[in-house]
Amino acid sequence: TSFGFRQVSEEQKGKLVGEVFESVASKYDVMNDLMSLGLHRLWKDRLVSKLCPFPGMQHLDVAGGTGDVAFDVLEAINRVEQRSLQVLPAEADAEDETRVYVCDINPAMLEVGKQRAKKRGLAGLPSLQWVEGNAEHLDFKDESMDGYTIAFGIRNVTHIDRALKEAHRYDMYSFAVIPAVGQYVAGDRNSYQYLVESARKFPTQERFASMIADAGFQDVQYENLVGGVVAIHSGFKL
Ligand code: SAM
Repeated sequence: TSFGFRQVSEEQKGKLVGEVFESVASKYDVMNDLMSLGLHRLWKDRLVSKLCPFPGMQHLDVAGGTGDVAFDVLEAINRVEQRSLQVLPAEADAEDETRVYVCDINPAMLEVGKQRAKKRGLAGLPSLQWVEGNAEHLDFKDESMDGYTIAFGIRNVTHIDRALKEAHRYDMYSFAVIPAVGQYVAGDRNSYQYLVESARKFPTQERFASMIADAGFQDVQYENLVGGVVAIHSGFKL
């Protein structure tokens, strides 16, 4: 398989992908803002609103990096909870059971995420869990999640089909992804080349939708944003 300008084994590629994100972890969020002109925040908001998070939800955000999607999911759940507290005060204690897992292959990214959680007053909450893991073989039990998201991360995964199969193991409720977009400025030319290439080589929206369906998801749909620069794919495990 290729990595930037080099030919490498699949195992080496996994390691190299890890190193790219190791080298960019501290600059990652600034880069995201710069490269998308801040739009990634709107795209993530859209992703989370399509997910319809609810109190008590078990949600897995894979390639969760520095926690953006997980924070949005938790905040959306809190908003629903505040509303239901006003209507049904006795029913609104599901927050205790809510679990949003941020799973990422790179501990440096998770570390940056934990620091960000602290700044947002989310540190130490049982509802927010940080887990090191690979999208292609995750350690959670079958049928243990209500939702699964992977935002901008699926194109970094070596075997997309394996990651989709893993997603299908857990998910009862919905699956949503933002596959395309983005060229991140990494520290060295090879990393940069890899990141540009991974965006360019990613399957088309139609093709990716059929890969999601092949993994067993139903009612697979996608929504193009900014003319298809970014797309949100979703599907259900019924
Ligand atoms: N979801 C975040 C966002 O939208 O800002 C991160 C996006 S993704 C481009 C980058 C993250 O994917 C990095 O933190 C990297 O470590 C992680 N990653 C790459 N390959 C992975 C894999 N096979 N399994 C889990 N995480 C992976």
